[in-house]
Amino acid sequence: MTNVVQPAGSIMVIGAHAGDAENMAAATVLKHTRAGHSATIVHMTLGEAGHPTLPPDAYARQRKEEVQESARQMGAKTIWLPYRDGELPVNDEVKFQVCDLIRQEKPTILLTHWNGSLHKDHVATHEIVRDAIFYAALPAIHREWPAHRVRGIYFPENWEDMEGWRADVYLDVTDVWQGYLNVLRSHELMRGGISSFRYFDYYDALGTLRGCLGGFHKAVALMMQPGAWVRKLQYLPGLEPADQ
Ligand SMILES: [Zn+2]
Repeated sequence: MTNVVQPAGSIMVIGAHAGDAENMAAATVLKHTRAGHSATIVHMTLGEAGHPTLPPDAYARQRKEEVQESARQMGAKTIWLPYRDGELPVNDEVKFQVCDLIRQEKPTILLTHWNGSLHKDHVATHEIVRDAIFYAALPAIHREWPAHRVRGIYFPENWEDMEGWRADVYLDVTDVWQGYLNVLRSHELMRGGISSFRYFDYYDALGTLRGCLGGFHKAVALMMQPGAWVRKLQYLPGLEPADQ
């Protein structure tokens, strides 16, 4: 009889606009869904503003199709919230909405924006998610679902969120890199023609750059929550007594 251990972890990514979760975390998600873990992608807004020719309603419909195709490729569930691009509010109503999603989906690991961002919706998402994680973990806060504590919080690399961002973890994503590029290609924004920013080239090159620095062929870098790297030791590594 073989003893098969099923991985029971799950990962949640919360992005401000459709496409953010994908460009900053699709490689990380693919790596873990292919290892048998589950994933949920949450888009705080559809990022429906700013298309040069399509009105927001039409672009929102396109973005829904894009995020669903991305989620299908990642083997992930996708959820979008009904907030407007550029107008994401920061209040307890939104924070409890995200708290409920965390309690419902029970992620082991959560990835979201770092707050050193040039986009106000990204900063808002960081703040909303930080408080939602706190609310979700607190048993004294009674909601429809029981309390859930997220075990690890990371901030992936996003070209708009680089103020004070730091690479703490290098993750080998070599074997999912083509899958990651395909996820990017499912968004018109990444393929080019909407924004002057070269999304596809930037994120493809970033995988090479992080791979060089991390000692892998392709890698992504993640920032840890400030303070999460603190270690509590009896002796410094390498100087432990022989019997330990
Ligand atoms: Zn964004």
